[in-house]
Amino acid sequence: MLKNRQKILILSGPSGSGKSTLYATLKEHIPDLYFSISTTTRQPRKGEQHGREYYFCNQQEFEDGIKKNLFLEWAKVHNNYYGTSKDLVEKALKSGKLVLFDVDIQGHKNIKLHYPNAKSIFITTPNDAILQERLNARASDTKEIIDARLKHAYEEMRHIDEFDYLIINHHIQNSKEQILSIVKSLECAAFDPEEIFKSWKTL
Ligand code: 5GP
Repeated sequence: MLKNRQKILILSGPSGSGKSTLYATLKEHIPDLYFSISTTTRQPRKGEQHGREYYFCNQQEFEDGIKKNLFLEWAKVHNNYYGTSKDLVEKALKSGKLVLFDVDIQGHKNIKLHYPNAKSIFITTPNDAILQERLNARASDTKEIIDARLKHAYEEMRHIDEFDYLIINHHIQNSKEQILSIVKSLECAAFDPEEIFKSWKTL
């Protein structure tokens, strides 16, 4: 029973849509949150730290991980590998934490296959011009990278109806309130009846 009531939230959406800011809001307000740190072969951006945003590794190490079946799911995004480690997620779920994933649309599909009760949010901007502006504002990426991310965003947008919720991140304060409400509702959905019955002597 508890297995179907695990608290799992998947965030997806184009790079630059504001997922990291919304994640920071959750971190600030939600105790017992476990953010699944992915492993990637992409280069760290300025300010990113190994073991905080990602576990950074090379292609050979990643491919060894695939062979050893260490990943719950993995995908190639923008020519780099990204993957979610199985063990850490299972451990966090067993301890009753809310597990949060930031993955692309392929990761969303695969995590939902693995955990059918997981809920998901697609986060995007009101239009492509705003997304481009936000990507341009990230000084760390070259024009080629920005173009590739924008192209990928168009593909991702075609999948929005596969998600449980959509946040159009125009006004950040509003988006923060929306994501907090979604997480609050997950807390009421994830309960263990056996645990509840223990407090009801005659049940
Ligand atoms: P970025 O390079 O901007 O951090 O991430 C690029 C894309 O890879 C984003 O859409 C992000 O959600 C996705 N991503 C990050 N980690 C994973 C992962 O473990 N699995 C999958 N499938 N996608 C991931």
